[in-house]
Amino acid sequence: MKIIQEAAELQKLALSYKRTGKTIALVPTMGYLHAGHASLIDIARQRADVVIVSIFVNPTQFGPNEDLDKYPRDFEHDRELCAAHGADIIYAPTPGGMYAADASVEIVENHLSKVLCGKTRPIHFKGVCTVVAKLFNLTLPDVAVFGEKDAQQLLIIRRMVRDLNFPVEIVAAPLVRQEDGLALSSRNRYLSCDEKARALVLSRALFAARKAIEANGIEAVDGVIEAMKVEITNAGGRIDYVEARDTANLDAPTAATKEILLALAVYFGTTRLIDNQIIGLN
Ligand code: AMP
Repeated sequence: MKIIQEAAELQKLALSYKRTGKTIALVPTMGYLHAGHASLIDIARQRADVVIVSIFVNPTQFGPNEDLDKYPRDFEHDRELCAAHGADIIYAPTPGGMYAADASVEIVENHLSKVLCGKTRPIHFKGVCTVVAKLFNLTLPDVAVFGEKDAQQLLIIRRMVRDLNFPVEIVAAPLVRQEDGLALSSRNRYLSCDEKARALVLSRALFAARKAIEANGIEAVDGVIEAMKVEITNAGGRIDYVEARDTANLDAPTAATKEILLALAVYFGTTRLIDNQIIGLN
């Protein structure tokens, strides 16, 4: 497994793979890897000859008062996990290597990024789209794997690929949870034992909501969301949002909606957790 820090070296290598007819799969991450990330690498491994995992805590997707400075890092652990799951290359650039000091071009998605996480994190998806587009240009992937944990991000990346004609197939990986239901996240590390126990309300509430919506359809959504808010608040969570959206456009669901994204962002202490369920409607 190669570890590459230089953008030019990575791009040259990717070009040489392409010229010899090898297919490439990319797994973009911010590191501090866990079993959720590993599942993405496993999918990538099945889909291409060469698997590239990028590890980059991208400063441009963090707001001024967010956790950029304390975001957890453990490169040695990440290296071992990538090797164990058969990655061929880790791309771990420095912020200075990723962005020119006078960089002035960004990619902005103008519809899907206005809601859910985009409301309280207004620059987040601009940072994500820009860095992912750069990673596509550096790694020339046939396939890129993204987790349904970040369901809004996945939809926005699909939209960017469609609207800007990137020749990349986007593959969705199911959300991986602990046995107790907590969605795996690098940010779980910030939680105290007590907060971790309280945070189990999120998956519990989402699973119950899913059942109710599957049984009673779209009419159940508003009541279900109100009940979730009460349950989460009672467990000590501070709600950023709990919302249902049509996965086709992230607008409010209508009678024509075929699939809804039931998504939430909730603080326990200072830690903001996200979780979701994607629910098909008949
Ligand atoms: P991150 O390192 O948090 O930026 O995540 C990198 C990629 O891993 C994103 O596509 C995430 O959606 C995905 N991911 C993170 N946590 C999980 C999880 N628990 N299950 C599935 N995918 C995940």
